Amino acid sequence: MFALIFLLQNVSTVFAFNFGKLREDLAAAQIQSVFPQDETYPNVTTPCPVSRLRIEQTLTIRADNLRFAFQPAAIAYPISTDQVSSAVSIAASQGLPVVARSGGHSYVDNSLGGGDGSFVIDMAAFKEITVHEDGTATLGVANKLGDVVIGLNEYGRAIPHGRCTYVGLGGHSAFGGYGLTSRMWGLTIDAVKSVEAVLSNGTVVTASQEEKPDLFWGIRGSASSFAITTLVTVDTHPVPASVAYATYVWDSMDIASATHTLALFQDYADSDISPELGTEIFLTAGSTSGTVSIQYIAAWFGAVEDYNATVDPFLGALTEPSSSTWVDGNWIEGFEALAYPSLDTSAPNAYATFYTKSLMTPEGEPMTRDALEAFVTYLATIVPPSELTWIVEVELYGGSNSAMNAIPVNNTSFAHRDTKFNLQISGYNAAPPFPKEGYTFVQGITSSIIDNMPEDWNWASYTNYVEDRLHDYASHFFRMTAKKDLLCKRAVQILRRPLYGSSKPQGKPRSTKHLQVSNFNRIVMLSGINCG
Ligand SMILES: Cc1cc2nc3c(=O)[nH]c(=O)nc-3n(C[C@H](O)[C@H](O)[C@H](O)COP(=O)(O)OP(=O)(O)OC[C@H]3O[C@@H](n4cnc5c(N)ncnc54)[C@H](O)[C@@H]3O)c2cc1C
Repeated sequence: MFALIFLLQNVSTVFAFNFGKLREDLAAAQIQSVFPQDETYPNVTTPCPVSRLRIEQTLTIRADNLRFAFQPAAIAYPISTDQVSSAVSIAASQGLPVVARSGGHSYVDNSLGGGDGSFVIDMAAFKEITVHEDGTATLGVANKLGDVVIGLNEYGRAIPHGRCTYVGLGGHSAFGGYGLTSRMWGLTIDAVKSVEAVLSNGTVVTASQEEKPDLFWGIRGSASSFAITTLVTVDTHPVPASVAYATYVWDSMDIASATHTLALFQDYADSDISPELGTEIFLTAGSTSGTVSIQYIAAWFGAVEDYNATVDPFLGALTEPSSSTWVDGNWIEGFEALAYPSLDTSAPNAYATFYTKSLMTPEGEPMTRDALEAFVTYLATIVPPSELTWIVEVELYGGSNSAMNAIPVNNTSFAHRDTKFNLQISGYNAAPPFPKEGYTFVQGITSSIIDNMPEDWNWASYTNYVEDRLHDYASHFFRMTAKKDLLCKRAVQILRRPLYGSSKPQGKPRSTKHLQVSNFNRIVMLSGINCG
């Protein structure tokens, strides 16, 4: 009893709204929900019986990144688009910030609100995968990327997306969606033909190039600023006839060799390489002091016999690796090899305590030799806090023939069509709390490059690798300096549409602000207001 009173006291100080009314309204709309007072609220491990929730889902409130421990005001589990609409309106009538949660893989737990007191709409019931005769497919946003691979493969089809199979389609397709097929097929958002979405006033809409094109523009790159997507219809590709996946490791490269390797990789990117190659370099701590470990990975979607000629200009210039692996097979066998952690996502998700930064390098301004050397020197010599491990993933977005950069920048609200590499820089702590020195260490990795490039170097950050400590995030996530006019114009157009101010079909006029919770999500809207 004492524990219950304590909890309720805590809850009421955090949340200033009418719990009873919210619960009542959700129950009247037959929407399953969980509140802080419920015993399942702090449930972090035990799956809720399917029968209780009536939908196939695991009820977790746990954050993906244990660096955070946000307390949502409530979590709703709608099982239809109409219920999403009702949930949005009910939460909005209490003035609660609303946020969607699809796969729950936000780096900063934005799908739990990115802070306390949000109303989370968990999309777990939206698992549809329908492949149409014309080669398009309609996908529910709660599908994990592994589900998408398996579901589409049954029809011999595939779309571009990441290889991290537990990531949800909802968030992935909200902000980009990069994977090893992206140089060949583009980002996930580039496959999207139309979406079904719920606006902040509860209206259900379809957005496409033909219908509500401005909303469609905003949703592909910044979806949570505009709506909650429920179903995404995509153009699919026939699966490649074969896939080869190779990895090569040099477990302790000295600073000069590692710098040379990265410089070669950068030159190689511009050497007319086929879009059928997806490739990355991972850097981790070397096995001896003053060294780094380098892993080169190559996913090849062309004819297997053409692989060697494709990678030789790069690999042939390096020393023999300390180890290597090779798998080739059909699409599903290939994806099984490259999937992280596995194509099968039936096992429970693993959680971590991490801080990730992203550094997108511009096509026309390669990293200088000095910057690369400073970067490698930092990694090889600066000692991180004792419980911290780090990894830098150098993902090749651009270079020659990349489908991602072939899309004109103003086609979608994804603002980074001139990116060569996306460096994903992460520090993992053994357990929470994440140490203060860990932030400094990870930030130092990024700075080792930026500080050695010209002051006006136009680097950016990838919104799907969102971070909470990025200075000047508007510019880096959305290119708000370079693309401000365009973004403002679009955002203003969208904001002024009667659709958003309408009181139909239910509720009072609502602002799209109700769909905002984190600053970076909010930025497009704010720019619209500020520059309108
Ligand atoms: C282990 C791991 C590996 C990753 N690998 C890659 C990779 O290879 N390539 C890549 O591009 N990214 C990768 N990511 C990043 C990933 O794409 C993003 O974190 C993505 O936003 C997660 O989507 P989600 O649905 O799982 O997450 P959620 O946490 O559910 O959502 C993330 C954000 O999207 C919003 N959102 C979710 N669903 C909707 C919806 N239906 N409508 C509107 N807004 C919505 C949420 O409110 C939140 O702001 C990885 C992330 C992790 C944790």
